[in-house]
Amino acid sequence: MLRADPHGWRLDHAAQLAAVSDALADGTATARDLRKRFPVLTPQEVAREFQVPIETTDDDPMVGSIWRFAEYRPRPPRIMLYDRGIAPLERKLGNVLAKRLLGQATPRDVFVAHELYHHTEAIRSEVPIARRYQPTLFRIGNWRWRSGVAALAEIAAGAFAQSLLDLPRHPRVLDFVAVDAISILPSQAGLSGFEPGTSPS
Ligand SMILES: [Zn+2]
Repeated sequence: MLRADPHGWRLDHAAQLAAVSDALADGTATARDLRKRFPVLTPQEVAREFQVPIETTDDDPMVGSIWRFAEYRPRPPRIMLYDRGIAPLERKLGNVLAKRLLGQATPRDVFVAHELYHHTEAIRSEVPIARRYQPTLFRIGNWRWRSGVAALAEIAAGAFAQSLLDLPRHPRVLDFVAVDAISILPSQAGLSGFEPGTSPS
């Protein structure tokens, strides 16, 4: 995920390892804190506690080369689920693969949990994980232009969902299932440039 980020590859190898470890640890620790507050609630119930409504939309999940499952919108805070984005994934997963990749959780649990991480980041005071590592884009003399690494927030949000829902794997794996699922939809035949999971949502 970091290598696919427009700026992540600019970090040197040691910084890449540190950044990914930090993102995974942040997601896991954030989920652990949330579990202490809400030991038995589902992600949907936690969203209700936070007064973050969950809305579903029939909008086209495809924007440019990005396929959307869900996104967090900060003002006002809400979580959008893209029905037409999630449906092919649910069909492809079926019961057997879903159990193997997600345990007891459903894809929608995973996406709501993922977006809850983005909400948590939006309301807390710490520097967002995507801005903790800033590769230099270019420099002239003493001037440096730096950029954040959006993929780190996605890595952290996945680790958060994995920990919160006790998933057997990082949910990034769903992107690979989706690539497979979407390529068999006749209406999507000939799609090119599909970039699952690179959206900063
Ligand atoms: Zn995200």
